[in-house]
Amino acid sequence: MSKAIRIHANGGPEVMKWEDIPTPDPGPNEALIKQEAVGLNYIDVYFRTGLYKAPSMPLIIGQEGAGVVTAIGSGVTDVAVGDRVAYAGSLGGYATHRVIPADRLVKLPDAIAFNTGAAMMLQGMTAQYLLRRTYHVNPGDPIVVHAAAGGVGLILCQWAKHLGATVIGVVSSEEKAELARAHGAHHTVVGYSSLVADVKKITGGAMVPVVYDSIGKDTFMASLDCLAPLGMMVCYGNASGPVPPVDIGILAAKGSLFLTRPSLATYTAKVADLRKVSADLFDVVASGAVKIQVNQTYPLKDAAAAHIALEARKTTGSTVLVP
Ligand code: NDP
Repeated sequence: MSKAIRIHANGGPEVMKWEDIPTPDPGPNEALIKQEAVGLNYIDVYFRTGLYKAPSMPLIIGQEGAGVVTAIGSGVTDVAVGDRVAYAGSLGGYATHRVIPADRLVKLPDAIAFNTGAAMMLQGMTAQYLLRRTYHVNPGDPIVVHAAAGGVGLILCQWAKHLGATVIGVVSSEEKAELARAHGAHHTVVGYSSLVADVKKITGGAMVPVVYDSIGKDTFMASLDCLAPLGMMVCYGNASGPVPPVDIGILAAKGSLFLTRPSLATYTAKVADLRKVSADLFDVVASGAVKIQVNQTYPLKDAAAAHIALEARKTTGSTVLVP
């Protein structure tokens, strides 16, 4: 038998139940992993509340983990029993054991511990595609990063600084501002009320070519107003709730802006992309340019407490759940 956190209905943190489940067998092209660490991500909240639809119930939420391959199905050639592996973007994560399509696994370099692997795959690969592909950050670019002290945020700040960008990090408290500055933010803005004026001041009126906005509803309009003409609004999350429908005419009125709502799933759908994005991430972590901050650890059975802290904006950096 295995253990997993399952939900039988959408709702608050209390719907997460720690239950016995039969250990699954890997089918063709699948691998069974004994998980050593599981990553906590905001998307887990969206699946728990129902903002993102569950494919079926009961559902094992969670999209990220690291562990050891303990069995493989027919046709698997990429990984072998005993390999240290990690993954992101495949539901079924909050469990002691899980099966997963083998081509979604990447081998975890020996120098990267399981808890670091589980903390970095989803947030780190997201930072990679946002900075290298959605908008290609160039040296000297001023950029705005929301939730700069969060999981994705701390990685974005460090990586963008490493690329030569000037990072303006937006956070909700002075403590978080200090943390963001310690991880690459050149400037910090606390709260959204003066965001546009602050960005104007910091950039000498030029504004920025890209805003990375993971907050959604509360920040959408202010983020658009931080952009220079032809700027790119990257609306990649909804921590405050989804952005209501917009009249796309505002993109013209505010300077022929670009707007995208990207997802990691698209950017790593092709196996070649998954390999490239994860290899880039392993490189910046191995070089020390990006340090993965695991600032909270919870037993997996206490995932509800982790969700409460994440939604209450009490976490910083990454959070790991230990099976
Ligand atoms: P974070 O660690 O960043 O936690 C969320 C942060 O959002 C909070 O700490 C808080 O920072 C900020 N926030 C602002 N308003 C609210 C609110 N009303 N309720 C809760 N938090 C709020 O989480 P993650 O690093 O896991 O994820 C960051 C974002 O990136 C999420 O929106 C997530 O959905 C998105 N994401 C998108 C991906 C994609 O491919 N599209 C992939 C990965 C993540 P502060 O207190 O400083 O405001």
